[in-house]
Amino acid sequence: MPAPTIVWFRDDLRVGDHPALAAAAERGAPVVCVFVLDEESPGIRPLGGAARWWLHGSLEALRADLEALGTTLVLRRGAAGRVIRSLVSETGADAVFWNRRYGGPEREVDTELKSALGDDGLEVKSFAGNLLFEPWTIRTGQGTPYSVFTPFWRACLAAPEARHPLAVPDGLDAHVPDAASDDLDSWHLLPTRPDWAAGLRETWTPGSEGAHDRLETFLDERLGDYDGHRDRPAIDATSRLSPHLRWGEISPFEVWNAVRERRSTGGADGRRGEATGEATSRARFLAELGWREFAWHVLFHAPDLATSNWRAEFDAFPWPRLHPTALRAWEEGRTGVPIVDAGMRELWRTGSMHNRVRMVTASFLTKNLLIDWRRGEQWFWDTLVDADAAANPFNWQWVAGSGADAAPYFRVFNPLLQAKKFDPDGAYVHRWVPEVDTEEYPEPIVDLGESREAALAGYQTVKSAI
Ligand code: FAD
Repeated sequence: MPAPTIVWFRDDLRVGDHPALAAAAERGAPVVCVFVLDEESPGIRPLGGAARWWLHGSLEALRADLEALGTTLVLRRGAAGRVIRSLVSETGADAVFWNRRYGGPEREVDTELKSALGDDGLEVKSFAGNLLFEPWTIRTGQGTPYSVFTPFWRACLAAPEARHPLAVPDGLDAHVPDAASDDLDSWHLLPTRPDWAAGLRETWTPGSEGAHDRLETFLDERLGDYDGHRDRPAIDATSRLSPHLRWGEISPFEVWNAVRERRSTGGADGRRGEATGEATSRARFLAELGWREFAWHVLFHAPDLATSNWRAEFDAFPWPRLHPTALRAWEEGRTGVPIVDAGMRELWRTGSMHNRVRMVTASFLTKNLLIDWRRGEQWFWDTLVDADAAANPFNWQWVAGSGADAAPYFRVFNPLLQAKKFDPDGAYVHRWVPEVDTEEYPEPIVDLGESREAALAGYQTVKSAI
């Protein structure tokens, strides 16, 4: 019997467009598929609660998809380098394949393992599966990384077009050597006491099938109006693919190609061809995938993005002493500012929040409550089902003003004006804060004008530190 190939699944919990799995299937030998819950390797950020909930469902779905192909999913827990090496000796594998990761500590684990396995004579291969443009492939004319989105995205669009997705392997050699697997339940990824996940279960279906359903619905019903509606939190206008992309249940190549290939059959006047609005929407949506690429580009070159200001001059910002009651009120959606409270309650209930409202709530925390962006980033990390090691700190720093291509610090969102503009009839606020028009609803916990002035004064300190 030929020695098996190990495929190590990480942020790519799918069987379609999975370059490592496809290459392993092509080798012809049995394939051992493994996922490692690594809470031991130094520097790897522990998953937040909502992400753990998601991971449980995603692994169940992946196991079912692999079983349909004739194999199974081995679950192991521990420092990944050690776990994979022990699986190699247990199964007699002579090859280990995976799709690449781009975070600093993760790359350290992978590089070390690759060289150790290589020294032992194994064939070790890594593939591009989770980003359309790997961070080191896009560089400025001077050979440096990009720090501004627009030229970055222009350079991506000028690069060779993203490849077509790979097919699901036809079926894998069924002679998989026995390898013990943990019982998924023993990982306790689901919350129990209390079970706060009811709203998550109502909202999401983790797994590739759920991801492809979301994509189809988006293409059929929403893509055409995406550009006009994407900033309106009361309207279901966006793809809601972010947690599926986070866990790689669908690949960016699958999304990219599906959007590129979807052409409208007729414009408003009935003629064949694409209406201009639809072309704009398509480009706009692809550019949002571009922001995901950019966040990873920035993280790759600044691996400590979640803990350190990307612009070092922000280290001088005089954050006042933390006011824990204010932070608590923000987390729980009790600030007395309706759109902020609506967003924070949506987050707690569903594990997600509309992008426009993420910007407003983050701006309110950093520029009205004057709370360090790292506190907000950590709360989002714990509560978002799409909590992403690049997108979350990148966007927090973008809002706070300390990040790459960030909004200028002096641009402080006025949450009341934001609500007027993007939720004009109050439908979103009423959905999440039904008591908003009653006496029960509190006054704002801070004066928006005064706190804005205090934030701008703090910024003067940053400017003088440059
Ligand atoms: P769509 O509008 O349908 O966009 C399609 C895809 O593009 C998204 O699924 C996502 O993968 C990507 N995308 C869109 N906007 C951004 C962006 N600004 N940055 C990076 N990728 C983007 N997104 C995350 O995936 N994980 C996070 O942890 C995260 N944290 C955020 C924190 C803050 C403070 C802010 C302001 C934004 C954050 N975002 C994060 C970005 C954005 O809000 C979500 O990607 C988006 O709301 C997801 O909804 P959607 O899938 O319907 O997006």
